[in-house]
Amino acid sequence: MSTSASLFDKVWKAHTVRELPDGQAQLFIGLHLIHEVTSPQAFAMLKEMDLPVRFPERTFATVDHIIPTYSQVRPLADGLAEGMLVALERNCRSNGIPLFDPASGHQGVVHVIGPELGLTQPGMTIACGDSHTSTHGAFGAIAFGIGTSQVRDVLATQCLAMAKPRVRRIEVTGRLGGGVYAKDVILHIIRKLGVKGGVGYAYEYAGEVIEAMTMEERLTVCNMSIEGGARVGYINPDDTTIEYLRGREYAPAGDVFERASSWWRSIASDADASYDDVVAVAGADVSPTVTWGIHPGQAIGVAEAIPRLTSVPDEDRPGYAEALEFMGLRQGEPLAGTRIDVAFIGSCTNGRISDLREAARVAQKGHVAPGVRTFVVPGSQAVARQAEEEGLDEVFKAAGFDWREPGCSMCLAMNPDKLVGRELCASSSNRNFKGRQGSPTGRTMLMSPAMVAAAAIRGEVTDVREVL
Ligand code: SF4
Repeated sequence: MSTSASLFDKVWKAHTVRELPDGQAQLFIGLHLIHEVTSPQAFAMLKEMDLPVRFPERTFATVDHIIPTYSQVRPLADGLAEGMLVALERNCRSNGIPLFDPASGHQGVVHVIGPELGLTQPGMTIACGDSHTSTHGAFGAIAFGIGTSQVRDVLATQCLAMAKPRVRRIEVTGRLGGGVYAKDVILHIIRKLGVKGGVGYAYEYAGEVIEAMTMEERLTVCNMSIEGGARVGYINPDDTTIEYLRGREYAPAGDVFERASSWWRSIASDADASYDDVVAVAGADVSPTVTWGIHPGQAIGVAEAIPRLTSVPDEDRPGYAEALEFMGLRQGEPLAGTRIDVAFIGSCTNGRISDLREAARVAQKGHVAPGVRTFVVPGSQAVARQAEEEGLDEVFKAAGFDWREPGCSMCLAMNPDKLVGRELCASSSNRNFKGRQGSPTGRTMLMSPAMVAAAAIRGEVTDVREVL
């Protein structure tokens, strides 16, 4: 009998405490990341049950969703946000949990700081009360979002009851063309497989295109797994992973790092591992991709025309018609040239230093178009420091962009950064659902940060390859 296995199987097995009578596994969680929005009720429930946090040393907190990006001076201007931060500080202090608040110098979006601090490591199980926890899978971890009651369960026991998903390997072959980014790859995959295509699956991303990616690009790909229905998305650890982790604050050091590296390599999927499904995607088929609709699967190449209702399967037509009406777009017309009102560069999908570098490269080719509001929001204080050291903030400011403090910002607008009315936003975030960016009628088009910068300076959806 073959003993070969996928990374998913190896990590799942290593963290299974026991099989439960209902067929689920009791899974040990190696790292629990918390933030101000989904943790207060969980801590309150723990207090009611008079339970301590079981492994405070495996729990780390940051503040990201509600934090304003124009000024983080305390007390925060929004009393509700200040109250949530105070509650998080109190809960962390009384339970011995490290909190990366603005004063720490390490604050940022939870899925940005985990990797940059070296907390996220291969072979781990990672949970967080945010859907985009799949981001951390870029390191070869099994990482997934959980709800508030599960945050309580992990705080109390460091375990979760989980049903084991199937594993689909997605091989992205060949090479990407110029002006095509990791964001385009994942939007293309979701377009191809659908927003529900990954339900019940963990996605293993592989192939030459994925292997050639930097860690930051891999984080972008894994981040949006959940938008394709897969709660978990991961990439096998390799030299790129190990070199990224070397020297990070919470990564092992010295001999321990070398020993850990050997183990990390050993948990990669075996060459002859079997999968429940395998899908191939040609890198050459991926072009700069933009969403035209109200979910991330409603996406097309920027040079393509908006789909005609007659070209989609019958069952998809009502959803397409609803999306066209909400977005105010016409079937069969080009997407390029659609006027935008707002440009947002940031989020846990695309708020890292390499994202800002690419966006700045485009921004310096022009000036923000009249009437376009802009937000450039670093994913973390470390990203902001690095960008300022490289002068990227000055590049953005000179081009008329608004340079902000780190946070989730317009990704979900649980803070003052919001769309107004029917504004249309070119956004580097991960969700284009109705109302996601703060206005019930506000419209979102997802694209790469370079594409957002191009849209900002032209005032309309633009093929970034024309600008670069
Ligand atoms: S940037 Fe968006 S998806 Fe990421 S953690 Fe914040 S709200 Fe969640």
